[in-house]
Amino acid sequence: MRIMKTPFITKEQAEEIIKKYPTPFHIYDEKGIRENARRVKQAFAWNKGFKEYFAVKATPNPFILKILQEEGCGVDCSSYTELLMSKACGFGGEDIMFSSNVTPDKDYLLAREFGAIINIDDFTHIEHLDKLCGIPELICCRYNPGGKFEMHNQIMDNPGDAKYGFTKAQIIEGFKILKQKGATQFGLHSFLASNTVTDDYYPQLARILFELAVEIQKETGCKFKFVNLSGGVGVAYRPDQRGNDIMNIGEGVRKAYEEILVPNGMGDVAIFTEMGRFMLAPYGHLVTKVLHFKHIYKEYVGVDACAANLMRPAMYGAYHHITVLGKENEPCDHVYDVTGGLCENNDKFAIDRKLPKIDIGDILVIHDTGAHGFAMGYNYNGKLRSAEVLLKEDGSTQLIRRAETPEDYFATFDFSDFFKK
Ligand SMILES: *Cc1c(COP(=O)(O)O)cnc(C)c1O
Repeated sequence: MRIMKTPFITKEQAEEIIKKYPTPFHIYDEKGIRENARRVKQAFAWNKGFKEYFAVKATPNPFILKILQEEGCGVDCSSYTELLMSKACGFGGEDIMFSSNVTPDKDYLLAREFGAIINIDDFTHIEHLDKLCGIPELICCRYNPGGKFEMHNQIMDNPGDAKYGFTKAQIIEGFKILKQKGATQFGLHSFLASNTVTDDYYPQLARILFELAVEIQKETGCKFKFVNLSGGVGVAYRPDQRGNDIMNIGEGVRKAYEEILVPNGMGDVAIFTEMGRFMLAPYGHLVTKVLHFKHIYKEYVGVDACAANLMRPAMYGAYHHITVLGKENEPCDHVYDVTGGLCENNDKFAIDRKLPKIDIGDILVIHDTGAHGFAMGYNYNGKLRSAEVLLKEDGSTQLIRRAETPEDYFATFDFSDFFKK
C-alpha cells in the first residue's frame, strides 16, 4: 500500500479556514478518522470481545474522543487528567483501560472510583494497590520479556532497557498473588515496539502473549478475559513507505489465536488494542504560514508554527512530510530547511528538504500530526499552544480547541498581582 501524501484539504479550503482560525493550527479529518476506526473494527471482527482503547495521550481532545466513542472505542488513560477528560466524555467502567506507570495514589484512586480496568505496571504495585483501595475483580498486568525484540532478524526495540512491565518470573508470581487477593478475571498486556511499519508486529506480539497466557493459566489457574496488544502500530510518515494493512494484521493475530489459544480451551479470550498513532496520526495536519526567508549558509524558510506545536522532528529527528498548498504538482527543485521560531536550533520541521519554490505567505501542510502532535506541545519561549479544528464529514469546520492566549499562559500566576487586569 503506497501512500500518496495528498493533504485532506485544498489550498482554497485552507484559505477559507484561515479567515476564521489564524495559523498555525492542527486540523483533523473526521471522515478519515471514522473510516479508519471502522476498518480496525472489521479487521478484528472475528474476535467476539474485541475493543480498541484509544490512547488518549496521542490526541487528548474530547471532541476526538467522542467521535471514537461513537465508533465503539474505549479509552486508554495514563494519568489523572486523562481519566477526568474521559469521564467527562461519558466513558466509564470497562470502557477505560488505565495503563500507567510510576502511578501516584490519587490516580489509582480515581481509576478505581471510575471502575476503570487497572493495568498494573510493576510487581510492587500489587501490594501497594491492595493497601490503597483493594484489588478489583478484573485486573491486568503488563509484561516485559527483556532482551531485544527482533523481527525478521532485525532488532525492532530493546525491551531489556525499557522501564515498563513485570519480568516473566514476577508476572507468574504476580497473578498468583492477585488471585489469592480475590481477583477473578485477568488481562495480559505488553508494548514491545513503537511505530512499527510491518504487518507482523501485532501477530508476533500476540504469539508471545498468547503462549504466556496459556502458561500462566496452567500454572496459576487464573482465567484470562483479555489479551491487550497495546499500541505500537505505526503509520507511513514517509511517502515512499508502505503503510500497514490493518486487515492483514487482524488476520495474522487471528491465526496466532487459532493456533495457540483455541486448542488450549481459551477461545473466549477478548483481544484489546490501545492504538493511538494508527487511529489518528494520518488524519491530522499542522497548517502553518511562511513568514520569512533567510539566505545564509543554507536556505531557511521560517514558518509561524514551531516545535512547541509539533515536537517530533526536534525530539526524535522524525520525518513529517510537507506539502506546499497549491503547488502540489510543481517540481520539488528547491532545497530548504523549514524552521520555527524557537531559540533552539533543533526547531526544524525539515532539513535539506526538496520542495517546490516557496514564497512568503504560502500555506504549508505538515502531514501526520494527528497523534503525538498537538499533545506533545509545550510553552517554551512563551509560545502559545495552537487551536485544533475539526473538518467535518459535510466539509464544514468546527473549532474543537481554541488557541491559547497570553492570559492562559499567565493563568498559573493568578495568586499574585503581577497580571491582574
Ligand atoms: C503510548 C501508548 C499507547 C499508544 O501508542 P501508539 O504508538 O500511539 O499506538 C498505547 N498504550 C500505552 C500503554 C502507551 O504508553
